[in-house]
Amino acid sequence: MPFIESMRNFIRNAQDNKCQTMIYTEAGGYQPCASTESLEVDHLTPESQLLAEGSEDPNHTEGIVRCQKHHTGRGQQLQDDGFTEELSNYGEPEWSRHPDMGEARANYGKDQDSFRKAAAKHQEAVKRGERITNDDEGVTEYERERVQQMTHDYCIKNDIKPPDPKNHKRFEEHHWYDIFLGNRSHEEDEET
Ligand SMILES: [Zn+2]
Repeated sequence: MPFIESMRNFIRNAQDNKCQTMIYTEAGGYQPCASTESLEVDHLTPESQLLAEGSEDPNHTEGIVRCQKHHTGRGQQLQDDGFTEELSNYGEPEWSRHPDMGEARANYGKDQDSFRKAAAKHQEAVKRGERITNDDEGVTEYERERVQQMTHDYCIKNDIKPPDPKNHKRFEEHHWYDIFLGNRSHEEDEET
């Protein structure tokens, strides 16, 4: 499930309402994607991990703003031969943090269970202690530090504090992937 609305809006504003995924070019080095289209807020510690551990309300972790392509796109890039596709690495323009969710979305028309299957795989991987994101610990910690700094600067500049949502009582009663299946709307996600 996504962040509750107050948190999502805060994160989006603190991060300039732009995708913060870093894209590498030889001319400019690493620069934020900065897209303003189809923005989503990605949990830097994956939500399925937080829910499996039961240790933390997913609203209390760091979020990073990403465009849909970089959050839940397929993450595939066409190779020089013109028809083979390969999974992109962090820094490449087509990179996606959750390419399996992109794949599930692409297959949903044929297989209405595609999100459930992808989510079940996440949960199994989490139990085995494996990463479920298309990146590594170094990338995540780099992104975490960067967004923490942005939050800090945004709060100082505007003399505000981040919202402090109460624990989400319902977070165990719902599957986090329900939002993809239309079983849960953003309206249901209001702060309680
Ligand atoms: Zn992006």
